[in-house]
Amino acid sequence: MMSEGGIYLYTGPAFALIVAATFFGAWLSQRQRGYVLLFAITFLAFALASLSQMLRLPYDYGSNAMVSAILYTFAILALVEGVMLRRGAVGVDAVLVGLAGAIIVLLYYYYFFDRDLIMRIYIQNFGYGIMIVFASIKLARLSNPKIIDQIILVLLILFGLHFFPRTLLTMNSSEVIREYVRAGLDNAPALARALRTSMFWQVLNFTLLISAFLMAMALLAAVAMDVIEDLSREGGIDALTGLANRRGFHRRSKGLRPDGPLAPVSVVYCDIDRFKAINDTYGHPVGDRVLQHFARLAEQEVRAEDVLSRIGGEEFVMLLARANRAGAAQLAERLRSETELTRFPGLPAGATVTASFGVAQWRPDEELTEAMQRADSLVYAAKRAGRNRVAVEAAEADPAPADPTGEASEGGAD
Ligand code: GH3
Ligand code: MG
Ligand code: MG
Repeated sequence: MMSEGGIYLYTGPAFALIVAATFFGAWLSQRQRGYVLLFAITFLAFALASLSQMLRLPYDYGSNAMVSAILYTFAILALVEGVMLRRGAVGVDAVLVGLAGAIIVLLYYYYFFDRDLIMRIYIQNFGYGIMIVFASIKLARLSNPKIIDQIILVLLILFGLHFFPRTLLTMNSSEVIREYVRAGLDNAPALARALRTSMFWQVLNFTLLISAFLMAMALLAAVAMDVIEDLSREGGIDALTGLANRRGFHRRSKGLRPDGPLAPVSVVYCDIDRFKAINDTYGHPVGDRVLQHFARLAEQEVRAEDVLSRIGGEEFVMLLARANRAGAAQLAERLRSETELTRFPGLPAGATVTASFGVAQWRPDEELTEAMQRADSLVYAAKRAGRNRVAVEAAEADPAPADPTGEASEGGAD
């Protein structure tokens, strides 16, 4: 056998090395995603830390404790930084660096100056628990989490919290430690060996292995989903609703001209009302389902030559062929009333979703973006007029803007 605990003890580091290699391989083809490299570093540091403990490298117990502690601490910092960076935020701040430094310094002190295993166990485990819980709080504050982000957050919280019962259980139940404390012994290597071979310790390590496994799976899934999302975005598809995204909209709208065979062409801009409140009340995943369902309703209204797109968060645009402003307004009104009357999946009975619409006709002498801007401004006019309505530009709408932008801040502020 390779160690006192048997070869299966190497399952943890072996698994972590495979995960590290997987992330590293993914990073090689996705260099712009720095967080993938950080995930690779996380699992590499974790594997090296546990290998250094198991193989007693370095052999001297004090140096070994320090080396593995530094590697574990580094793994945690890399994990936190990676998870936050993936969400576009900075993870490792002064507090976390301070905590990490304090853990290392205290571990050094309680080995080399005032040898105390119990203190070291508390410092290392509680220290890691506090670092991870602190980082989880920062992560929880970031807006617009997807389901995978929430899974990662929950795993991180559980992982952070598990250090507390883990340590207390170690202290209370481990006969080995109790005897050690009772006798006031300080035979660290013998204790370490005894601990590592005890059933109790192995159960704890198994828990750690399971946590690492779940975390690895969630992070791998997150990276895969990020890549898929980017690929569909590049392909002009919005991953959430399957509609065209902004890029897809511009690509597909090339076939339509205000003076072409499918003229007249009109633009319907649409923004869901108080959508932020839907997210805040029912959660972001429910918000996502509302967007998906709204996309289905809108899809039923358009024809093959039309272009329908989710152009932004809860904003949709339709480019309608063979539709003047009156025809487009009718369509918008149908969609508006249907939205209001529809029971949206995920929302409780009685909860309604409404949307505001702006309708403009594309004039032969202007660019599409100009017509879109007019329709967009009309949405804000509809919002100011009370929401859940369709604002249509006047038939004779000349260059006079339908909505003075100076007033738009009023609508944007609520
Ligand atoms: P108003 O009636 O004035 O339009 O209010 P609003 O709350 O709809 O407008 P606001 O622009 O303030 O909020 C839009 C919200 O949409 C904010 C953002 O968190 C949310 N959002 C953007 N994209 C998504 C998404 O893909 N999914 C979910 N669930 N929410 C999103
Ligand atoms: Mg909006
Ligand atoms: Mg809105």
